[in-house]
Amino acid sequence: MITRRTALKQSIAAGACVTLAGGVTSFLGAQPAPAAPAGPFTLPKLPYATDALEPHIDGRTMEIHHGKHHATYVANLNKAVAGKPELAGKSVDDLLRDLAALPAEVRTAVRNQGGGHYNHSLFWQMMKKGGGGEPGGKLQEEIARSFGSFAKFKEDFSKAALGQFGSGWAWLLWNGTKLEVKGLPNQDAPIAPGTTALLGIDVWEHAYYLKYQNRRADYISAFFNVVAWDFVEDRFARKA
Ligand code: MN
Repeated sequence: MITRRTALKQSIAAGACVTLAGGVTSFLGAQPAPAAPAGPFTLPKLPYATDALEPHIDGRTMEIHHGKHHATYVANLNKAVAGKPELAGKSVDDLLRDLAALPAEVRTAVRNQGGGHYNHSLFWQMMKKGGGGEPGGKLQEEIARSFGSFAKFKEDFSKAALGQFGSGWAWLLWNGTKLEVKGLPNQDAPIAPGTTALLGIDVWEHAYYLKYQNRRADYISAFFNVVAWDFVEDRFARKA
């Protein structure tokens, strides 16, 4: 891990980082990546400037996280479905909804790269400049009903995010009956029948290491200052 972290820092300093599948950063050389198919999946634009979430989430992390890591999930998903029009015509949601139905040779790639694309596309929208605070309306009521209080929800969510061993995410989900907090490993997407993902935090080291190093708890605490609760409330209002 030390080697990878050191390599990450060096590669960022040199401005020549090559990102491989799964978000692992390599510093093996400046070999250009093979040209990836241009579609059908595309990297969504960030809904704000890369430095908009400062000081909570730093601009350099956002640049690399969105422009390199998310872009690589998209490129690798496009590679996985290249030459398979029956898959390339589907939305990433539909691909992830029934992984078992996919051809075995693309299943892992869709799970990891498609999951990465799906999760990050949501994640950017779940944050905003001037966010934070607490939700209002029906979501506020449901949080109180499901968890007892906003403070208890925040505690449970933070605990799941902190306790996720290795790389993964913590999510606030509507499960069809109530709200629940769930940790998921790697880029496994929170897609299941009757489930709506409301809020997620990326706890891969690439999401926080430049600013917070090993202090994941500080990153989680800072995340609550940029949560776009209006977006989360809207998803709750339109839940399945
Ligand atoms: Mn990420």
